[in-house]
Amino acid sequence: MKPAPFKYAKAETVAEATALLDQHADDVKVLAGGQSLIPLMNMRLARPEVLIDITGIDELSGIEVNGALTIGATTRHVEVLRSNEVRAFAPIIAAAMRHVGHVGVRTRGTFGGSVAHADPASEIPAIVIALDGELTVAGPSSERTVAAADYFVSTFTTDMEENEILTAVRFPYPLDRARWSFHEVARRHGDFALVGVAAVAEVDDAGVCTRARIALSGVSDVPVRATAAEELVVGSTIGEVAAEAGRLAERQIDPGSDFHASAEYRKEVARALVTRALNDMATKGEAR
Ligand SMILES: Cc1cc2nc3c(=O)[nH]c(=O)nc-3n(C[C@H](O)[C@H](O)[C@H](O)COP(=O)(O)OP(=O)(O)OC[C@H]3O[C@@H](n4cnc5c(N)ncnc54)[C@H](O)[C@@H]3O)c2cc1C
Repeated sequence: MKPAPFKYAKAETVAEATALLDQHADDVKVLAGGQSLIPLMNMRLARPEVLIDITGIDELSGIEVNGALTIGATTRHVEVLRSNEVRAFAPIIAAAMRHVGHVGVRTRGTFGGSVAHADPASEIPAIVIALDGELTVAGPSSERTVAAADYFVSTFTTDMEENEILTAVRFPYPLDRARWSFHEVARRHGDFALVGVAAVAEVDDAGVCTRARIALSGVSDVPVRATAAEELVVGSTIGEVAAEAGRLAERQIDPGSDFHASAEYRKEVARALVTRALNDMATKGEAR
C-alpha cells in the first residue's frame, strides 16, 4: 500500500525542525528512521500532511561518554549495538538491541525514534526505565529534561508536545560494575516481544543487593518497574529471593489479553523472566 499524499521537509538544525513543527502543528510528524511511521502511513493508520525529516541534523546523532552516556536521538540502532562505548558503559543496552527487529530495521531505525514512538512492547523504553534514563526534549523556544518515569504516558504517547522533538537520551550511571540481565519471549526472533525484562543490580562485597531496577515490557501501556520485587531484592542475596520476586512481579502487573497472548500467559511469562533474570544475576552476573 502507499501513503496518503504528504509534504516533506528536511530540517538541518533542531531550531529549524521545531520551528517547522510549530508552523504545521495541526498535522505534522517527525520522520526519523521511518521503520514505525512509514508502515503506519502505508496502512493509512497515520495520515500526516507534513513530514519533517530530522535525520540530516548532525547534532542529533552520536554517542558520547562523559561520566554519563548520551545517545543522540537519530543514532541508528546498529550504531548503538556496535558501539564499544555503549558496551563498556552499559552492556545491557547492547544486549537488548540485538532483539530489536532485523538487520534492515536496525540499520534504518533510530534509538530516539523507538523511545519517542513509545511502543510498550519495545525493548528500548524498558531499558530507558531500568537505567533511570533522562530524555532531552527541545521545543521552539526552550529545552527541557524529562525523567524516564514521567516520559512514557501511555501506548504511543509521551510527555512531548507536537512542536517538540526528542534530541537525546542520557543514562546517568555507569553500569560497568553492575550485574544485569535481559530476557524476552517473542514468537519469532525479531518480532516484538510478548513480554521482556531488563534488570540491573548492584551487589556489595558480602553479596547483598544494594540497588535494583527491574523493568518489564509488554505487560501494560507503558514499560513498568516491578517495584515490589525490587524492594524484596534490595537488602537480600539475590538468588535466595529470585522465585519470590518473580511471584511479586506477577502479582503487581495487570496485562491485557490480545491477539498475541492472554493476560494469564503474560503474567506467567513475566514471573518466569523476572525469576530467570535474578538467578542470572545471582550466579554469573549477566545474561545475553
Ligand atoms: C518488521 C519490523 C520489526 C520491528 N521489530 C521491532 C522490535 O522487535 N523491537 C522494537 O523495539 N522495535 C521494532 N521495530 C520498530 C523499530 O525499532 C523502529 O526503528 C522504531 O520503532 C522507530 O524508530 P524510527 O527511527 O524508525 O522512527 P520513525 O518510524 O521515523 O518514527 C516513529 C514515531 O516516532 C516519532 N519520532 C521519531 N523520532 C523522533 C524524535 N527524535 N522526536 C520526536 N518524535 C520522534 C515519529 O514522529 C513517529 O511518530 C520493528 C519495525 C519493523 C518494520
